[in-house]
Amino acid sequence: MGDAITGRIKGIHHITMMAGDASDNNGFYTRTLGLRRIKKTVNFDAPEVYHLYFGDGTGTPGSVMTSFPFGGMPRGRRGTGEVTITEFAVPPGALDYWSERFAARGVAGLTEGMAFGAARLDFEGPDGEGLALVEADARGRVPWTGGDVPADKGILGFNGARMRLRDGAGAADLLGFMGYELAGQDGALTRYRVPGGNAADVIDIEVRPQDAPARQGAGSIHHIAFAVEDAEAHVAVRTALVDAGYEVTPVIDRDYFRAIYFRAPGGVLFEVATHDPGFARDEDPAELGTALKLPARYEPHRDRIEAGLDPIAD
Ligand code: ZN
Repeated sequence: MGDAITGRIKGIHHITMMAGDASDNNGFYTRTLGLRRIKKTVNFDAPEVYHLYFGDGTGTPGSVMTSFPFGGMPRGRRGTGEVTITEFAVPPGALDYWSERFAARGVAGLTEGMAFGAARLDFEGPDGEGLALVEADARGRVPWTGGDVPADKGILGFNGARMRLRDGAGAADLLGFMGYELAGQDGALTRYRVPGGNAADVIDIEVRPQDAPARQGAGSIHHIAFAVEDAEAHVAVRTALVDAGYEVTPVIDRDYFRAIYFRAPGGVLFEVATHDPGFARDEDPAELGTALKLPARYEPHRDRIEAGLDPIAD
């Protein structure tokens, strides 16, 4: 049955977090991490909240961190049933640069280490979100160089993500169904990798049976989206998931990609999103992320929506 999916999932498409202050979130991902803001829009289901997208120069699937900044939302509490760490890839040898940069900027939670044979630097974002930089080969990816991070140090996109679960068996089955293969064990972490995908191809599962469930709030990952190329692959994946018993939403048009959502065993919200049409759909590539873009159904209400959003300090 997994044959309908095998080869279609390319790795991570985007990862979406809940944040507190929009300007703090925006400033960290652009000025501190050196990502490009590639879209400024609103939560399509709640247009009083921004939806900000940060990634490489064009928002290549596998590079895109997104946020819903809810203003004064209390911080979440890390626990089981969520993505606890979002890992970005940086070129081999780049971590010393990042350690110094983060220390100079007062970034919290700096911890150097190794996992699966790769040097890594764990740290926290402004809402306490768990992040890491991992040294990895570029594999054809190039960083955004519009900020002040040198090209040979810049973030290449995601390396992967870590999920913390009370019981990993159901999620492991699902990842296998999606085409992921067991790729190693390091301490409490089990690694899965999708062959033939984009370079954002790793999912680690950390099983902690005694831990309490996460409480969602600012700094929590809302969902993780996996990439497929086009609408045909998207429908095939949806059909296979439904046939396998997963409760999957209808296809939803998110303007920049098509989306389906379903809850993975263990509690993490999964999305499957298409590569097309991409972020240049409604903005010139040179202007990505600069203007507030709204889906067509909200354009008649633009004045009211804009008036309700705090300006973001760029
Ligand atoms: Zn999403």
